[in-house]
Amino acid sequence: MNDRLRLAIQKSGRLSDRSKDLLERAGITLEWRSGRLDCRALDFPLDVMLVRDDDIPEYIADGSCHLGMVGANMLVERLDCRGKQGRYTTLRPLEFGRCRLSLAVPKDGPLRSPRDLNGKRIATSYPNTVKRYLQEQQLEAEIIEIAGSVEIAPTLGIADAICDLVSTGGTLVSNGLIEIATVYSSEAVLAKTSKPLTPEQSVTLDRLTTRLAGVVRAEKAKYIMMNAPADAVEVIRGLIPGLEEPTVMPLHSQRNRVAIHAVAPEPIFWETMERLKAAGASSILVVPIEKIFD
Ligand code: ATP
Ligand code: ZN
Repeated sequence: MNDRLRLAIQKSGRLSDRSKDLLERAGITLEWRSGRLDCRALDFPLDVMLVRDDDIPEYIADGSCHLGMVGANMLVERLDCRGKQGRYTTLRPLEFGRCRLSLAVPKDGPLRSPRDLNGKRIATSYPNTVKRYLQEQQLEAEIIEIAGSVEIAPTLGIADAICDLVSTGGTLVSNGLIEIATVYSSEAVLAKTSKPLTPEQSVTLDRLTTRLAGVVRAEKAKYIMMNAPADAVEVIRGLIPGLEEPTVMPLHSQRNRVAIHAVAPEPIFWETMERLKAAGASSILVVPIEKIFD
């Protein structure tokens, strides 16, 4: 009986570097051998498979991989829209791979809103998600499935609109297209099969998710330290979003001032620093956190 966990990540593409980096920062050492699509972690009961992102949902659904790091958009397209949403659970977002599946039309054409798409042709690599969207919106349009470079479809005259993934929207603009609606907002997630795991695999999964959560949370969080008037502690707590219980310590030489130390779960912007200073804080330090382990 193989009690190792099997995780699928994208072989090469937008998600692959960040997925590998996350594992490395979770203390999992992977030695990639050229040409091999699977890799045994040296110090953790985990095997990592390098596959196309399109295939990850199906591997998770059939249990051939217990876990996957994949865009939520792909899980929706391959599983949810095919009535297979019960085959997996999303364990956590991974804070990368943010993008949106957007409807876009030629900038200089007559189409301006999703309503205008009735009876028109929409080119996409996400036919199931587009079909579901059209049903929800009670629209009828023809879906033209294209594997890639969807933006070219209107120029080629094979579609009136497109539905594709965008992050900044730059590619759409350079192809003379404008977005008219967001069909789905996505980011990379850690997903798990609904097939049962062995007790050993479950233990490994707990260890892995705790470590990944620690890395992902630490990436966003900052450790903040400052000195402040003792009577401003409550005001200062209110200025830092999501701040948990801070440590407040007396200062040796200034009796009416204290040192405040705390983990801020969200990034600290300059505006927040300015407000802290206005509330009487001084010597404000914001430092990165490497790991969080609760
Ligand atoms: P593969 O060869 O693995 O099938 P691909 O070319 O289909 O690769 P990529 O373009 O690398 O896939 O995109 C993989 C995932 O990255 C997408 O499914 C999506 O979740 C995410 N992503 C993030 N930003 C974008 C973007 N601007 N455009 C496309 N995908 C994006
Ligand atoms: Zn793909």
